[in-house]
Amino acid sequence: MQRILDPGQIEAFAQRNIQRLRLPDRARVFSTRAARLRQQSERGAVGHSIGDYLQLMAHLADAQHAALATIEPALPNAEQIAHARTFHMPVVPVGSWQREEQWRESLRSICDALAALPDIPMPVRSVCDRLRALEPEQLEAQAETLLATQTSPVDAASAPFVMAALQVYWVALASRMSIDAIGELDVPGVCPTCGSLPVASVVRADSRSQGLRYLHCTLCATEWHMVRVKCSHCQSTKGISYQSIENGPRGMRAECCDTCHTYRKILYQEEDVAVEPVADDLASLALDLLLGEAGYRRANPNPLLWNPS
Ligand SMILES: [Zn+2]
Ligand SMILES: [Zn+2]
Repeated sequence: MQRILDPGQIEAFAQRNIQRLRLPDRARVFSTRAARLRQQSERGAVGHSIGDYLQLMAHLADAQHAALATIEPALPNAEQIAHARTFHMPVVPVGSWQREEQWRESLRSICDALAALPDIPMPVRSVCDRLRALEPEQLEAQAETLLATQTSPVDAASAPFVMAALQVYWVALASRMSIDAIGELDVPGVCPTCGSLPVASVVRADSRSQGLRYLHCTLCATEWHMVRVKCSHCQSTKGISYQSIENGPRGMRAECCDTCHTYRKILYQEEDVAVEPVADDLASLALDLLLGEAGYRRANPNPLLWNPS
């Protein structure tokens, strides 16, 4: 006799087989990003000045890769994991996790690596020098602002470098945790590992995740599953549309929501196997301009590009 499942059973069955989380691979996360940034910077369509910026960010990602190999922050203990799971909270939350000073060591090594480049633009060199001269309390205050736990204005010139060091620290945490330590949150649009917002989403094409959509954390690079055709900002499933630029990059659209009027970019690995959320978001500013004109706003900024506030 044929067994018939009701929709609830089908959903539960599907959920059991879906890989819920994809944690970052510390050996590859920043080297893959650097390679993609270089590839994007060489594509004519992105224009000259953004091409230079993508090259600089590729050097930054190289420096992040090197810095990540040298730090091993303390992971949450069993009690902290149990507490987070009980209350459906991120296990290493940006707002309250006690950062060790290792993140500042990463910042120093990132600034040293960039300052040592032969063709570094003068403004970048002076930002690196400025950051290297700051006191620990001043750097911590900048970190608090970027992690949105303070409301003071962001120093847009140094923000990408401070953010880069914080990414190294949180990827060092996320990449060494077990998936079982990370519970489900009540808020599906934030990272279950660290509580940050996603920079973009990716429809994966590998055998384990074929056709599934994952949101990619702006800070710790954790990816978490969310069904497709749903706003990653307000969770609406109505009024979702997909916009792209004619002759624009392959494998990229913007998922726009007519309920909250925001968008996030969505990348399709089956169209371009090398898609990388942070790099591709940065390399497609033309799409942001188009969507701004159409009345949509970004759900949140790219971690490596801050507008002065
Ligand atoms: Zn995260
Ligand atoms: Zn929405």
